[in-house]
Amino acid sequence: MERALAVIPGGVNSPVRAFRAVGGTPRFIASASGPWLTDVDGNRCVDLIGSWGPMILGHTHPDVLRAVHDAAMSGFSFGTPSENEVALAEAIVARVEPVEQVRLVNSGTEATMSAVRLARGVTGRSKAVKFAGCYHGHVDALLAHAGSGVATFGLPDSAGVPASAAGETIVLPYNDEAALAAAFAEHGDQIACLITEASPGNMGVVPPRPGFTQALRRLTREHGALLISDEVMTGFRCSAAGWYGLEGPYEAGPPDLFTFGKVMGGGFPAAAFGGRADILAQLAPIGPVYQAGTLSGNPVATAAGLATLRGCTPEVYARLDTVAHTIADAVDRELSAVGVPHRIQFAGSMFSVFFRDREVADYDDARDQDVPAFAAFFHAMLEGGVHLPPSAYESWFVSAAHDDEAVEAVLAALPAAARAASDSRDRMPG
Ligand SMILES: *Cc1c(COP(=O)(O)O)cnc(C)c1O
Repeated sequence: MERALAVIPGGVNSPVRAFRAVGGTPRFIASASGPWLTDVDGNRCVDLIGSWGPMILGHTHPDVLRAVHDAAMSGFSFGTPSENEVALAEAIVARVEPVEQVRLVNSGTEATMSAVRLARGVTGRSKAVKFAGCYHGHVDALLAHAGSGVATFGLPDSAGVPASAAGETIVLPYNDEAALAAAFAEHGDQIACLITEASPGNMGVVPPRPGFTQALRRLTREHGALLISDEVMTGFRCSAAGWYGLEGPYEAGPPDLFTFGKVMGGGFPAAAFGGRADILAQLAPIGPVYQAGTLSGNPVATAAGLATLRGCTPEVYARLDTVAHTIADAVDRELSAVGVPHRIQFAGSMFSVFFRDREVADYDDARDQDVPAFAAFFHAMLEGGVHLPPSAYESWFVSAAHDDEAVEAVLAALPAAARAASDSRDRMPG
């Protein structure tokens, strides 16, 4: 870590990897296999970060490894069309019914940035609506009141975003239909798009209340704005068709655009945005909205993504559900046993544990929790051989490779972690 701190800001290449919210020094991971991480000192722990979503099949899955090896043997990048990118696009279109075409990019950030640009190009309008606590990557205009690391470190917004960019963003509380209606009544004719996490996971898991997603669809349509469903985290994880597969189809109609990332890259840099073909036809080279990428559709990354999507069988989703519920039930049991207030919320097999006792419906609720209790819980879990995301505002990610041995290891670490959370509360004044 000292070497890292000398040459990399904060020692990390993405802020959530630092332990600043929980204290201590991050583990440097040397290798990973199935549900296990092994650090440079040789300690093994159960992984509940899953690279923040991609590792749905577990680490170094043999089929994905073979696909990567075979692809790499044929060349690393061509800068010309190649077959893997078509196969991956076909796999996405086959899984998510409203998506007719996709453009491949390298990160979720690029996907949302490009989707918003496309929406602005199509509508000729400039404003974007987003929800507080939702994270859509580090796109200038979408950093306002963002989740993920921005939430973890309690940052109001990011420096370096010009007022002109931030001023085009309208930020609303999640799950609040009245606030939404008011914003569209006032600015409706200037709003290019509303972008939302399909089911938010970056302020912890905060699913839409029944009817909320439909209300987004109705209002955007009434006002001629596009609805962008950001499925970078939920896509191909909550179900084969992502959150849309669990909650859709909607009576009010599907979102216009979707963004994907994480699982669809299988641990490599691949992401996508897509939707109706008439909208995607506005992209260069056939339309006026420019969007490009030297490594977009990279043959090795697309091979990894394709092998991962193909590996996501019904049995895999069933295993994810079993593992998630087994762990969450045990967390509930152990925290209850020591009287620590908590609330566990799910979106498919994504779940998070809030250290408060009431529903979390929006970002204000998520922030109203006992973060020091989480930090104590986190470190006791790590001590017990389980690596949680180092933030109270993140989903826990399980994989289909979490076998009974890995699940038992998590259950074994929980009692001491629950006691640590309880002890941290006893130390609190009042
Ligand atoms: C992770 C994430 C992003 C950003 O993806 P990167 O690949 O980190 O740029 C965007 N939206 C959501 C919902 C995410 O969870």
